Amino acid sequence: MAAPSMDLMVSLCKRRGFVFPSSEIYGGFASTWDYGPLGAELKRNLKQAWWRRVVWERPDVEGLDAAILMSPQVWVASGHVSSFSDPLVECKGCHHRFRADTLEGPNCPNCGSAELTEPRQFNMMFKTFVGPVEEDAAVAYLRPETCQGIFVNFDNVLNSARPTPKLPFGIAQIGKAFRNEIVTGNFTFRTREFEQFELEYFVHPEQAEAMLQEWLQERLRWYTDLGIDPEHLRLREHEEKELAHYAARCYDIEYRFPDPLGWRELEGIANRTDYDLRKHSEYSGHPLRYFDDSSGEYVDPYVIEPSGGVDRALLIFLLDAYHEEEVRGRKRVVLRLHPLLAPIKVAVFPLKRNQPELVEMAQDLARQLRPHMRTIYEETGAIGRLYRRMDEVGTPYCVTVDFDSLKGQTVTVRERDSMEQERVHVQDLLGYLRKKITW
Ligand code: ATP
Repeated sequence: MAAPSMDLMVSLCKRRGFVFPSSEIYGGFASTWDYGPLGAELKRNLKQAWWRRVVWERPDVEGLDAAILMSPQVWVASGHVSSFSDPLVECKGCHHRFRADTLEGPNCPNCGSAELTEPRQFNMMFKTFVGPVEEDAAVAYLRPETCQGIFVNFDNVLNSARPTPKLPFGIAQIGKAFRNEIVTGNFTFRTREFEQFELEYFVHPEQAEAMLQEWLQERLRWYTDLGIDPEHLRLREHEEKELAHYAARCYDIEYRFPDPLGWRELEGIANRTDYDLRKHSEYSGHPLRYFDDSSGEYVDPYVIEPSGGVDRALLIFLLDAYHEEEVRGRKRVVLRLHPLLAPIKVAVFPLKRNQPELVEMAQDLARQLRPHMRTIYEETGAIGRLYRRMDEVGTPYCVTVDFDSLKGQTVTVRERDSMEQERVHVQDLLGYLRKKITW
């Protein structure tokens, strides 16, 4: 099926409580978005699926949760104060602003005027002041990427983690990042506040190329294991002139977004060499090196960095999951989200809401399931309508309590994608569902 349009996704997200325009009652605020009840669940599940694969399932990766505000020296050392900028041009006619490197042709894409200002470099870091005085000495920045928190804690992690990490090893982090982007838009694709999942995987310099290739494949696998159609993903290597100031080589995992956006970056995977550890060693005077027991020598590790956007990933999981199909002459909208990601895992209904025994049994079952998985109980409407509502938000299982349930202690479990139904004994229900919603 062709991807749904972005407008359709924006409207589904608002209607069903995945994503709302931020500060909507004040008319919204510059491409900022809030995750609603279902979006918050989906985002937690997505981050957990990443953490589980990148940290829990590996013996060689530790987690970190560093502060957003850091010493301003961090950003001097990392090169962000001097070079984290985009070339800004302004149209002298309509005063719209654009990134010079994304313009297609010499004219203003808004009004067509040929009169554009010369590009000037615009630093994308958000500046703020720490403490009550707004002066240069109190300047701090909201971090534009999470990874610097990892580099400056390199020694802390190395000295505290047990068993002591041996190269190659990684440090992973999920958290907010902020960039004062010149142009935002396309829903949550590009915003000024967003979340990243980043892994810094430290390797012997001679292993860097092989590890870069391994991580490219592993990150592609993670997306497809969670249900993204492999045809909708591709790798693109950066040309020399595109490379960030710290990178020796970089690939983007791109996703085919709905037209007119098309193929765009979902995650970047770079060989950052020893740039960051070297710069922080130089600027802080604290050497960030690795002592190799086997050779008895210090090594300056290179780092392979898979760096993805949580919000962008969430958007592609929704876009890819969206399906419209015809069932018995009626349109069915279904989000085929992987059960691990689905915001609601199970919905419990009584077959008839005016039958107290059915209601009581269904409510009791929902109560038992709630501590184990996101469960909802609903009784408003005919079963068919309830199923359709759950399909539209990607709930993988619906449990219906009917008259046979009262006699035989069994319930009907209906699976979202196949729409097949199975009778399951209430005693086995939790185990049955648990098995289905794990990896
Ligand atoms: P782009 O080329 O799209 O501006 P980038 O190359 O600057 O992205 P990176 O610095 O590699 O992005 O950041 C890693 C990931 O963080 C990106 O792949 C993307 O998923 C996410 N990301 C970066 N900037 C934004 C943003 N403004 N809004 C939402 N997600 C973002």
